[in-house]
Amino acid sequence: MGKPTGFQEFNRELPSKTPVSERVKNYNEFVGMYSDEKLNQQSARCMNCGIPFCHSGCPLGNIIPEFNDAVYRKNWHEAYRILSSTNNFPEFTGRICPAPCESACVLGINKPAVAIEEIEKHIIEIAYEQNLVKPTAPLVKSGKKVAVVGSGPAGMAAAAQLAKAGHAVTVYERDDKAGGLLRYGIPDFKMEKWIIDRRIKVMEEDGVNFVYNTEVGKDIAAEEIVRNNDAVILAGGSTIPRDLNIPGRHFKGVHFAMDFLKQQNKRVGSSPFDTEDILATDKDVIVIGGGDTGSDCVGTSNRQGARSIKQFEVMFKPSDERPNSMPWPNFPGASMLKVTSSHDEGCERFWSINTKEFLGDEDGNLRAIKVVDIEWETDFLGRPVKFTEIAGTERELPAQRVFLAMGFLNPQFEGAIQNLGIEVDERKNVKAKEGVYRTNVGKVFAAGDMRRGQSLVVWAISEGREAARKVDEFLMGHSILESKDGVN
Ligand code: FAD
Repeated sequence: MGKPTGFQEFNRELPSKTPVSERVKNYNEFVGMYSDEKLNQQSARCMNCGIPFCHSGCPLGNIIPEFNDAVYRKNWHEAYRILSSTNNFPEFTGRICPAPCESACVLGINKPAVAIEEIEKHIIEIAYEQNLVKPTAPLVKSGKKVAVVGSGPAGMAAAAQLAKAGHAVTVYERDDKAGGLLRYGIPDFKMEKWIIDRRIKVMEEDGVNFVYNTEVGKDIAAEEIVRNNDAVILAGGSTIPRDLNIPGRHFKGVHFAMDFLKQQNKRVGSSPFDTEDILATDKDVIVIGGGDTGSDCVGTSNRQGARSIKQFEVMFKPSDERPNSMPWPNFPGASMLKVTSSHDEGCERFWSINTKEFLGDEDGNLRAIKVVDIEWETDFLGRPVKFTEIAGTERELPAQRVFLAMGFLNPQFEGAIQNLGIEVDERKNVKAKEGVYRTNVGKVFAAGDMRRGQSLVVWAISEGREAARKVDEFLMGHSILESKDGVN
């Protein structure tokens, strides 16, 4: 490595964040950038560790020690070449990935892990600044046509790779803009949307054709798409939210998280929407669900000026300590207990709590919810098995807004999946084996949340890339696209 003793000399440092009191006044990103010196020091922390487990920790197989070394040497061309050989969109993962690579970092065993995610963000931003991000499609085309259904990270990655292989690619998107949950799920304060627009421009220069406001299976027949293309990749995401069907569900003020988040993202992006305003302003808000979607509701409610915000998780509070059964260090910069920047902004968190009823007033508006504390019984591995209510803890909490953020069940079946006769698995996701990505319908493939169930951006990009490679093989008999195992 560039500086073999770097990990002993420098501590892990992250770029500064805008103070909470300032950042909640707007929807801008609030994580800054390193100075040149800090970036150099952070890259120098990557050790010559022999077996870099970070490679396999990353679903994309990012070649991390090599790009860290190039960053240390300030060889931006090389750093960008290495990073972009495995990851089409480091500007997304460098901002919002939970960084499983950092959990696998060998340095993390007894010191805080290398700040891989931040270094990734800096490489791509410097690459854009230095005009290194250029179209990659070959001049000689294959003559094959591929349609991609859905423009989330899986569809975008598939399209970028297919264009690189010389195919003519059309991406169909039912929304008015590209990006999927990157655009209309994840709030701007985690990732501003010009970052997607900048990438779409590069893809368009590469010849990718984006068709918006077009739902395949509704506005255009799925059969027609299949007939008119040599292959199709379904990348429509997992969009059916888990509901909470308890008494009072009908009261005005109980919303799915995505309805709330999508509307705010549209507001920030000046995109029109025709639904009634869902606002947390001056309301007592309760977010049900402790994951990424829940914390994005917390951050958005704070920015809208909620009076109070509570977040519920039915599970018990995870331990702050690393369990003996886990050989790896804790999630970098945090602990087993997931805390996001939204929690720093103000939110009361409740664990082992069950919601029993929504209570409303005579006008049909939500006024409170009835909850009870619960106790979990666990198995010999500490996994939750069943819960019992704790007597005497039932109570009402005031709430005029509830956001249901309990995850997504499966993709929408009606439309493309149903019309094409695509088989689904027992979880109702599109059935297509990992590593193969081909459905039961000859030339139709699937990738991302639509196939694997709700997951992460990094997995969606990985699946999009791998599915594109399988399509390329299917069309050409072999593929020139990189695989994550480094096999061509
Ligand atoms: P999606 O992003 O869902 O994109 C699917 C696209 O397909 C959509 O644009 C949809 O409109 C379109 N589509 C669907 N059907 C059709 C059709 N028939 N015709 C045309 N278009 C269609 N992951 C992280 O790694 N980090 C995070 O911080 C994070 N935060 C999240 C916050 C929220 C609120 C949510 C909901 C998810 C978050 N995730 C996060 C998860 C991540 O966003 C998803 O795993 C990822 O976006 C899945 O990518 P995808 O391309 O498979 O699907």
